Amino acid sequence: MSPVQEPSSASGSEQLDIARAWLGDQGEAIIAEQVELARIPAPPFDESARAEAIAVKLAALGAEPDSDELGNILAWFPRRVDPAGQKPVIISAHLDTVFGPDTPIEIRREGHVWRGPGITDNARGLAVALAVLRSLRHAAVTPGHSALFAFTVGEEGRGDLRGVKHLLRNGSPLRQATAFIALDGSGLSRIIHHALGSRRLRVTAAGPGGHSWTDWGRPNPANAIGNLIHRLSELDLPQDPRTTLTVARLGGGTSINAIPAESWVELDVRSEANEMLRTLESQVREALAASLAAEDARGPVTLTAEVELIGERPAGKLPVDHPLVQAAESATRALGVEPEHAVSSTDANVPQALGIPSIALGGGGRSGDTHTIHEWFEDIDGAAGALRLLDILAAVARF
Ligand SMILES: [Zn+2]
Repeated sequence: MSPVQEPSSASGSEQLDIARAWLGDQGEAIIAEQVELARIPAPPFDESARAEAIAVKLAALGAEPDSDELGNILAWFPRRVDPAGQKPVIISAHLDTVFGPDTPIEIRREGHVWRGPGITDNARGLAVALAVLRSLRHAAVTPGHSALFAFTVGEEGRGDLRGVKHLLRNGSPLRQATAFIALDGSGLSRIIHHALGSRRLRVTAAGPGGHSWTDWGRPNPANAIGNLIHRLSELDLPQDPRTTLTVARLGGGTSINAIPAESWVELDVRSEANEMLRTLESQVREALAASLAAEDARGPVTLTAEVELIGERPAGKLPVDHPLVQAAESATRALGVEPEHAVSSTDANVPQALGIPSIALGGGGRSGDTHTIHEWFEDIDGAAGALRLLDILAAVARF
């Protein structure tokens, strides 16, 4: 049996004051829960242990969590609604880390600083989301729009936002959401209203290979990939919208004394504008065709090539005068902090590209060495990050 929430007799602003007062005292509890969650490994494509821990916490606070086919954990406040009619506000925090199962997850304290893989990204986001949900329940807030707290899988790297993509899949009524707020990492000033898009491509060239002496002169896939990289390095990329193309990984071949049968390169293409992502992809394909033709001219055999899309994050931008950005700005100023507009790649990319007003926020505190085993978090402002989210929610979910 789950605790039944009593309808609140307090007015909207009284409820908000009660929630604020309670949440303001939660700084110690938030950092303790953050450390606890960071200690539960959540490698890419295997977030289940941490997801289970979140589900247990949600059940304990009476939020009746659900999980979906992919392993996202979902909890409604104050109750589940038909998203098409009631247009909820979605708050997301990703469960996964970038660290594989072989990385030891050791979190230790050095004074005010906590150190260890994933301590900030995204244990901070998870702990802040939980604290805010508890404050809403504590104050029995009655919002105009229900809130859906989504603890998502697969945000990082090759996960490619698979959790949030599934949540907002084709036909999902959650596409009617009023707003989407992703909690990711630390900090109090940044308001990420601009979703940085990316397309990640793996280009593979293949041929018959052969002996490095007796078959020398045959088309060589490594030459074709090298030629491609050279052409890409000479592309003129725009500053506005800022667009980048990074040759990130390359490989191929089996032996020092053989023409490789296969060579490959992985490219990370990023842009503030979706159309540039598509333009760059066609430029990659054109450069590849030219590189293959140059190598094939050696005869007598020809090479084949393949371009595989291994990651896709759509770009999108919410105007700074949108009420959601405005609400985030005033909530930030209320803490005595000057807001900064920022561009980044987070769970919010997906809703932003679908036209759902979306931002991403840090959960307060200071951090560094993200995505390394030396990642650190300094607890400099306690519950401020949680209070900022609460105030933004009060504005967009109306209570
Ligand atoms: Zn993150």
